[in-house]
Amino acid sequence: MDNKKVVVIGGGFAGLSAASYLANEGIEVTLLEKHDTVGGRARKFSKNGFTFDMGPSWYWMPDVFEQYFSDFGYQVSDLYQLERLDPSYDVFFKKEKISVPASEADLFELFERYESGSSLRLKKFFDEAEIKYKIGLGEFVSKPSLSILEFAQFDLLKKALKLDIFKSMRKHVAEVVKHPYLRLILEFPVLFLGQTAANIPALYSLMNYADLKLGTWYPMGGMNKIIEAMEKVAIELGVNIETNQNVLHIRTHKGKAYEVYSSQGSFKTDYIISSADYAFTEKNLLFESDRSYSDNYWNSRKMAPSSLLYYVGLNTKIDKLKHHSLFFDSNFENHAKEIYTTHKWPTDPLFYLCAPSRTDKSVAPPGKENLFFLIPTSVELNDDNEIIRKKYFEMICKRMEGHFGIDISKHIEVYETFSRKEFMQEYNSLKGNAYGLANTLDQTAFLKPKLKSKKVENLYFAGQLTTPGPGVPPSLISGKVAAEQILKTI
Ligand SMILES: Cc1cc2nc3c(=O)[nH]c(=O)nc-3n(C[C@H](O)[C@H](O)[C@H](O)COP(=O)(O)OP(=O)(O)OC[C@H]3O[C@@H](n4cnc5c(N)ncnc54)[C@H](O)[C@@H]3O)c2cc1C
Repeated sequence: MDNKKVVVIGGGFAGLSAASYLANEGIEVTLLEKHDTVGGRARKFSKNGFTFDMGPSWYWMPDVFEQYFSDFGYQVSDLYQLERLDPSYDVFFKKEKISVPASEADLFELFERYESGSSLRLKKFFDEAEIKYKIGLGEFVSKPSLSILEFAQFDLLKKALKLDIFKSMRKHVAEVVKHPYLRLILEFPVLFLGQTAANIPALYSLMNYADLKLGTWYPMGGMNKIIEAMEKVAIELGVNIETNQNVLHIRTHKGKAYEVYSSQGSFKTDYIISSADYAFTEKNLLFESDRSYSDNYWNSRKMAPSSLLYYVGLNTKIDKLKHHSLFFDSNFENHAKEIYTTHKWPTDPLFYLCAPSRTDKSVAPPGKENLFFLIPTSVELNDDNEIIRKKYFEMICKRMEGHFGIDISKHIEVYETFSRKEFMQEYNSLKGNAYGLANTLDQTAFLKPKLKSKKVENLYFAGQLTTPGPGVPPSLISGKVAAEQILKTI
């Protein structure tokens, strides 16, 4: 094993994870990242004393991170300090706000207040969700999903039947609660999977278990602390991390890759794992004869949304604001239609606000607020410009004023935006998606782009476009699974 070489393309969660698992087994690993830092979608930037996480902000499934770092001899607490948020988040509706509490007893009490008798059904829903979480994370998620046969063992099939694969999440939630606010709270977690609850299998109520039972956490210093910790571990294991290395081509001979060309040089290798966007790797780094999937295949994939993001530093505090707020005070169905069906700019968007400075003094100067706004948008919007971005920011300011009584536009010290155009430019993202492919039934497990190339025998993929799917914990896991596939063949 000692003299085998692997090149990992991309230094986000998936690339760092793959590189570390390989280096841990004595493989010589070089990781090539096009930006000047690792982190990918979870990079950070600082301006005027504010430090902004650029992408993920919800720390869910703490057990996955604990497992990851323990595989390399660490506990999470050796590397960063986690805080459990309480309330987990606030949800704003037209006329009222619901704070979703961290404690289970308080949560049941909240559901009873809105719908008498619902807490008993909620308990049953959680019991089932826990089974799904344990089966899903325990047995299914670590499968490479290269073939349906991996799932064809009797005991696994029996377990799969418990997973509600064919029922929609919307139907499942409707059996638990009738009240529209409670329904939205239970449907919200699957939005992370890139589609509405109507199109996501009820299997993913495991996300509710992650949300409401395992809790919402925050690493002090910001989400990028996870990346810093992963980078430290990778370097200690001997991974050679090279930044500012824009990979341009993968050279192959008779169905085998042997060299990676970047903006700065070339790297001979025995294996490659690409954690750069899968479609980009296929279409831009490989000749046509080496691609597993056609342009038609990629064009017909159902993508998770893109996002219009604002990083805003305020010269004042907003006292009533909590760390995470969901603004569901607009018509959810209309916005979903504009994202997935009509592909229009939203008329009256729902949006999400993260204010890490409510928990963490280090991310904003004293007396100031660090805000990150996200509006989900279609992956087919081409008319993106500063005027449109300003228009949506004005809408956000108005809605904020309605809820908090403060015109934030008068308090701005930092204002930066990021949208579909930047997702394509910065991450080579297919259609400018923010978080990969939607986890619909026909794009789950072995129906996802495979993590092993069908054409190039020593080329593997990791990251949010392959198994198990989008999100920080799945990306971490995909790096591990891809590394294990290589280790099996060495
Ligand atoms: C705005 C936003 C909010 C999100 N919120 C959450 C959240 O709250 N919680 C959660 O769990 N998940 C969240 N996600 C999803 C999560 O961030 C992603 O699923 C995850 O970060 C993907 O990691 P990755 O390693 O697959 O991809 P990436 O992070 O995109 O890493 C791929 C890397 O490849 C590099 N690369 C690309 N092309 C090349 C090339 N040619 N040469 C060299 N390098 C290249 C890129 O620069 C990048 O560093 C969010 C995503 C976004 C965008």
